[in-house]
Amino acid sequence: MSDDFAIRLLAWFDVSGRHDLPWQHPRAPYRVWLSEIMLQQTQVQVVIPYFERFVAALPDLPALAAAPLDDVLALWSGLGYYARARNLHAAAKLCVERHDGDLPRDLDALTALPGIGRSTAGAILAQAWGDRCAILDGNVKRVLSRVHGIAGWPGLPAIEKQLWAIAEAQLPHARLADYTQAQMDFGATLCTRHDPACVICPMQRDCIALRDGRVAELPTPKPGKPLPERRTLVLWAEDSAGRVLLQRRPPVGIWAALWSLPEHDDHDAARHWFDAHLGGDYDHAEPLQAIVHGFTHYRLQIQPLRWRGAEAKPAVGDNVDLRWVARDELVALGIPAPIRKLLENTQLPEG
Ligand code: SF4
Repeated sequence: MSDDFAIRLLAWFDVSGRHDLPWQHPRAPYRVWLSEIMLQQTQVQVVIPYFERFVAALPDLPALAAAPLDDVLALWSGLGYYARARNLHAAAKLCVERHDGDLPRDLDALTALPGIGRSTAGAILAQAWGDRCAILDGNVKRVLSRVHGIAGWPGLPAIEKQLWAIAEAQLPHARLADYTQAQMDFGATLCTRHDPACVICPMQRDCIALRDGRVAELPTPKPGKPLPERRTLVLWAEDSAGRVLLQRRPPVGIWAALWSLPEHDDHDAARHWFDAHLGGDYDHAEPLQAIVHGFTHYRLQIQPLRWRGAEAKPAVGDNVDLRWVARDELVALGIPAPIRKLLENTQLPEG
């Protein structure tokens, strides 16, 4: 699997990764370092204009070291987490004092600088010089926890150690800069925290979380942290024969491509959908007992609304992602567990 992971990841990166980021052209150590620091806590699209302004004003490490801190903070203004800018400035001064105005090409010397941890140092070495160094940022922790089925909060030293060992064992022997960028892109755009696109994922054959149905559970969240709650409405329309109108969910995201009750965030959206697809009166809905379903990163409160004797409008007949399903057909369809439970455990309509 270890070689395979890198081969597949690089093949994915060639087609779907980011190749036009400003710090990739050129991938000079100073530019890579600056981008890595800016990207901590901040998304790529937000960082790009800040990065471009910063390197236009302070194009190299000696220029950064010589600039007044106020100028550096002004260039950082709006990016937040200003300790990053202060550390960047302090580290630049140290590089002038200790390393002739360059970043050192050495893991220990890099991590001795303010604001540079082991993963950032690895990212700089791999991207700027192509050195065989692993990274383990939040994205990589998530991907490795899922692909290798590793339970336990990744912030625990024992789990982190295990993940570092895997990250190092999987390193390819070439294209380290691309591989590093590929890992970041893969976690940021495909194996995302809430909406992993498992159906199009090049790792799906070997992904233990996918095999075991544990994608939403991994990585294990930090213990003791109360989960945020989200609410949603599910619309349960039944025709006079007791068939249920089900909708196929989008191909990516939670419960990707499964059949479920149509779902909406609020009554306005739900009413709009109802009026477009069904006859009858939205306000005649029968609200059922809400269900709470726990995901890794949030709790979902599902409020079912039910209409009996509903009639579909003609447009429903042409929609391949909407269908009336008889109760005895439910068993053969892929349906999210809490929705199946709702459909199967709620009493049949009388008559
Ligand atoms: S199959 Fe899904 S969970 Fe596994 S690596 Fe791919 S996107 Fe992530």
